[in-house]
Amino acid sequence: PIDNEPLLEIREVTRRFGALVAVDKVSFSIRKGEIFGIAGPNGSGKSTLFNVITGIPFPPSEGEVLLSGKPIHRLRPHQISRAGVLRTFQKDAEFATLSARENVYASAVYCGQMSPAEAKDAAEQALDDVSLAGERRAKAASDLSVFERKQLMIASAIAGRPKVLLLDEPAAGLTKPEVSGLSDLIHTVHGRGITIVLIEHVLPLLLKTSEHLMVLNQGAVIASGKPEEVVRKPEVVAAYLGK
Ligand code: ADP
Ligand code: MG
Repeated sequence: PIDNEPLLEIREVTRRFGALVAVDKVSFSIRKGEIFGIAGPNGSGKSTLFNVITGIPFPPSEGEVLLSGKPIHRLRPHQISRAGVLRTFQKDAEFATLSARENVYASAVYCGQMSPAEAKDAAEQALDDVSLAGERRAKAASDLSVFERKQLMIASAIAGRPKVLLLDEPAAGLTKPEVSGLSDLIHTVHGRGITIVLIEHVLPLLLKTSEHLMVLNQGAVIASGKPEEVVRKPEVVAAYLGK
């Protein structure tokens, strides 16, 4: 039955850089409607995994990525995003000189493949969803605060109409109360029917939001399961203490 089929499936994916194996035969699958967390110390291969899933900027060296059972790892990056797999980046990736509204509009046109009129409505709706105040929407992205740029990042993602959204360390640079606000934003996205894969190297946001947690160390999966059980495993504790 279609309901039990994974939405996104990663099969034995490897990415090498010369002699370095940044992602080492990683396999996992994500069900529709899930919030799937990925943790791991710095350099454990988390971002590289998102890079190879989205093809931005490179495909896997080996292995397969399937979306609703169809291989997507040979597609071009724009085809992957239009198929419904969108990502955010660790560093700000918005168009700095464009307004918040123009950024979200661009995502609706480019990723969501909407007409100008549709995109205009979708952008306004997405900005409402993340509660970015009306007067901020005309500001250049670079003039927004750190948290407002996170709101913009999430609004751009929603407007692109993804099936799966990959968030790479969205809590970076936020204060504790802001992380709590971000958690609300993630639940808003989830409430729009979007499946979420969330990378964080710090655990609190993952424990608060994820239904399933996978931990990477040196490119390989070292634990996967219920978040509260996974974080107690000795191999996970050891990886975080940096042995
Ligand atoms: P994480 O996101 O978990 O901190 P990364 O995926 O960024 O880790 O990096 C995993 C490993 O791959 C690191 O050792 C990093 O230096 C290396 N790496 C990542 N991207 C490249 C690249 N484009 N070229 C060479 N090495 C890379
Ligand atoms: Mg990273």
